[in-house]
Amino acid sequence: MTVQLNGRQLIAGQWVASGKETLTALNPATGALLETPFAHATPAEVDAVMSAAQRVFPITREISVERRIELLEAIAAQIMALGDELLQRAHAETGLPLARLTGERARTCNQLKHFAEVLREGSWVAATIDTADPARQPLPKPDLRRMARPIGPVVVFGASNFPFAYGACGGDTASALAAGNPVVVKAHERHPGTNELFGHAVVAALRQTGLPLEMFGLVHGPGVTVGQALAKHPATQAIGFTGSKRAGRALFDLAAARPVPIPVFAEMGSVNPLVILPGAIAERAEAIAAGLAQSITMGAGQFCTKPGLIFLVGNPGAHAFVTQLAKQMTAIPATTMLTADMQKQFCAATAALQKIDGVRTLLAGAANGFAAMSPALVAVDSATWRAHAELHEETFGPGAVVVLCRDLDDLRATVAQAGGNLTASLHTGAADAAPEVREVLQQLEQQAGRVVFNGFPTGVEVCAAMIHGGPYPATSAPATTSVGALAIQRFVRPVAFQNTPDAYLSLELQNANPRGIWRTVNGAWTREKC
Ligand code: NAP
Repeated sequence: MTVQLNGRQLIAGQWVASGKETLTALNPATGALLETPFAHATPAEVDAVMSAAQRVFPITREISVERRIELLEAIAAQIMALGDELLQRAHAETGLPLARLTGERARTCNQLKHFAEVLREGSWVAATIDTADPARQPLPKPDLRRMARPIGPVVVFGASNFPFAYGACGGDTASALAAGNPVVVKAHERHPGTNELFGHAVVAALRQTGLPLEMFGLVHGPGVTVGQALAKHPATQAIGFTGSKRAGRALFDLAAARPVPIPVFAEMGSVNPLVILPGAIAERAEAIAAGLAQSITMGAGQFCTKPGLIFLVGNPGAHAFVTQLAKQMTAIPATTMLTADMQKQFCAATAALQKIDGVRTLLAGAANGFAAMSPALVAVDSATWRAHAELHEETFGPGAVVVLCRDLDDLRATVAQAGGNLTASLHTGAADAAPEVREVLQQLEQQAGRVVFNGFPTGVEVCAAMIHGGPYPATSAPATTSVGALAIQRFVRPVAFQNTPDAYLSLELQNANPRGIWRTVNGAWTREKC
């Protein structure tokens, strides 16, 4: 597919722009402005895209499972059909290497196909049937049948660091469409062309499958104006967000303050504590240092799962390990960050940390070129770390803070102050006693959505068991995930149907179980009819 970028909003299948203000993408590797100005959506356009989504919802919620599967698979195919054009534009807008983007494109298509599989299998609707008992005393028992139903128009805010996997056709969009909802994307300002290309792919997929074009909209413009207008629109029923704590929290508060509050599924900052017990250091310090250096600096450290805080018991082995880690990180060249602003923010944040009394700088981190950055590493004792809240914060970039604790009790108590996270990792060796390992694991479990054993947290597998979520501030909704099969549950609500005749029920709840899915009937799992 060859696409001429038009810089407009996508509303009900039409590319329109009536506003005067525009934004232009910047190449972070060179600082050069990229072609095509993108018009900010006007208030009337925001209303039009949300009204179209609201109008089409009664249709999308009844689209059969088979056709939703077709749509998801068609979107994946249309993304691939964009070919190099998508990769080249995203590379120019984000500075991310083409190899990384190629991998992320595969993951994005796999996410769409994964949700197609989830629909095919069918048990995600949690069909639960309690049949009637008219003879029950003192009152007859009604027939009650419950299943998940789509929630309504979903607004998606993508992140800067994963322009594909958390972009216009990323996990939030895939799961919301899979559930039968219309989706409106607020395109990220830093990669508007990439977003537009995804818009063309979805339009092509909707046309190919004969589904309503109002099912997907895309608008450009600043988060504080266009984004907030989308969040406030009465048609919006839920928000999927990935990005900073500042913006996620602003949207969460705004959604709660609406006359009709709506859920916000925001995936925000995370420091991803990584604990290395003395037994692991004694056993394989060099291998851990090498793996950790890669994990901290992968993608210029701009991963929401980057291990930003490393906790050790401060014995001589640990001190040697820190030196080894610094050596490994020195060997990693400066990498272009997503924006020059992010480079500046990272420089300022790491410089501020290095000025704190008691903080030892192992690698200062140096800005290089328009937006590139070399790694930074500091070490601190647990008492100093606890006393300085700024050492607890995420620094978005290729850097980490090592915290040296007095002993295991101090380590557990210190890690507890690292708050809610997407991940927490633990490295152990044969010399670490099982009860102590268990205690640290239990501590980490309380603080993270995913606990990684003897591994590194970067790299999020797309599969049924994955949790990419966690307690606040990692997310605004700790009971769910933005990656993996469970993510679809964010964009549905359970509805119970009482004494409803079979013919009026969705296939999943009908007596004959025509889709042959797993259901609970009177408390027992079965695929049989009832
Ligand atoms: P962001 O600034 O939070 O932006 C994400 C989306 O939210 C964008 O579409 C943005 O629109 C919009 N937005 C920003 N402020 C808003 C507001 N007050 N109200 C409504 N919408 C708003 O995230 P980012 O651009 O991806 O990265 C910026 C920072 O976020 C990074 O420096 C990093 O610290 C953090 N980050 C964290 C993660 C993570 O998963 N932990 C991932 C990515 C980024 P505009 O761009 O138009 O403002």
